[in-house]
Amino acid sequence: MSTRKRLAEYRKKRKFKVSAEPEGKAIKVRSRKKVSLAFVVQKHRATALHYDLRLEWQGVMLSWAVPKGPSYDTKVKRMAIHVEDHPVEYNAFEGIIPEGEYGGGTVMIWDRGIWIPESPDVDAALQKGELKFSLEGLKLLGSWVLVRARRKPGQARDAWLLIKHRDQWVSEQDVTSLFPRSVVSNRLLLEIARDEGGNVRKAADGDPPE
Ligand code: MN
Repeated sequence: MSTRKRLAEYRKKRKFKVSAEPEGKAIKVRSRKKVSLAFVVQKHRATALHYDLRLEWQGVMLSWAVPKGPSYDTKVKRMAIHVEDHPVEYNAFEGIIPEGEYGGGTVMIWDRGIWIPESPDVDAALQKGELKFSLEGLKLLGSWVLVRARRKPGQARDAWLLIKHRDQWVSEQDVTSLFPRSVVSNRLLLEIARDEGGNVRKAADGDPPE
């Protein structure tokens, strides 16, 4: 599918005159020579708090909304709802989506870095519903897997599970509460909302209790 088509759902859901989110006009499929693929995790206090995991692939960001965020505990399977592809420029977005708009609330760049596919054929892995990869971020490191769960009748979006693979980084400590701040601005959700005119009280309940 062309990247233009892939971003149609993303664009349809948003009013770019109202929201500061990027339109994703600059669609550019990077050459095969490019060695690194970007990943970002955006902590998003919308209707409900979640962490948007995005993996760069063929000019767009494949995206999953993870309500509880990632866990370094290999016994923990985190629900990850597959959502629409986002433009690569979205990776730089931290700020406020106006209330009443799609995804209205506060967005934080919670982690970013590069991802390395461990499945030899990424498209085949996505189709099959089992993508193995490693992350080289500031908070997220090591080997992970996304596994598609069986689709339930009437379910609009595919549910996947995000699971940590066993490696040197495995831990039972909760990375989301240990490291709640933005990797680009060092702000909490509350501070982003306060600085940028968002709903401070709503944003604050996505931060860990003091
Ligand atoms: Mn989101």
